[in-house]
Amino acid sequence: MNFHPIRRFRRWRRSRQLCQSRIPIELWERVEQDALEHFRLSHHELARLRELASLFLLKKAISAAEGFEVDDYMRVVIASQACLLILEIDQDLSLDWFDGWHEVIVYPDSFFVVQQQPDEIGLVHEQRILLGGEAWGTGPVILSWKDAQPGHHVHGKGSNVILHEFAHKLDMLNGVANGMPPLHRDMKREDWTRAMSESYEDLLHQVERHHRTRIDPYGAESPAEFFAVVTEEFFEWPERLYHYYPKVYHQLKLFYRQDTLKRMTGPHH
Ligand SMILES: [Zn+2]
Repeated sequence: MNFHPIRRFRRWRRSRQLCQSRIPIELWERVEQDALEHFRLSHHELARLRELASLFLLKKAISAAEGFEVDDYMRVVIASQACLLILEIDQDLSLDWFDGWHEVIVYPDSFFVVQQQPDEIGLVHEQRILLGGEAWGTGPVILSWKDAQPGHHVHGKGSNVILHEFAHKLDMLNGVANGMPPLHRDMKREDWTRAMSESYEDLLHQVERHHRTRIDPYGAESPAEFFAVVTEEFFEWPERLYHYYPKVYHQLKLFYRQDTLKRMTGPHH
């Protein structure tokens, strides 16, 4: 007999938690309209997303930086899009895919970080760079609300800073950010690597030759950034990703277990 007391207990606890802390329907509908409508999710997908986002808000603190104030609307906008990534891969609503970190910090606007960069002869220079989001290691996810708010595509159509930063978290679940999150058993490592590296090289060539790039050129920064950028494209503009990098689209479809192209171009539910 298939009897897992711990699993059953966890499921029971989650349903209790959901009863007590489901995101209120008026707030959820507002966020749905502002931030989720363009993803064209079905009623069933939206209901599941609301459950995941409610549990996300129980587990993670979303706090403000620099005297800014974060309200529940902002929290739900962030939680719902973060959870869109794991909608089909977190089958038991465990949020295990977002393990190992606890906090999201929201800045009102883009923020500066100091990066140390060694030059050719090994001297380390400090560089101040302006960011709309950051997510490294076991630390918090940092977001700029100006860049993350609904309808604001700071790097053009197809961009989404929330999806970008949480994709980094998935990537880092199995160690360093290298553009390869933990793959499912039915996926092949070689297929993933081939699809990603061919397309990454292609983007890199376009950037080096100062050509117009097919997708956001920021993806040419590193394989980790490439994964985060193609994740944004996969959810926001799958037609374009499929057109230019069909193998990448296919691998992301296997990884996220969502067919965003079909959802975006098919009949409305
Ligand atoms: Zn990034």
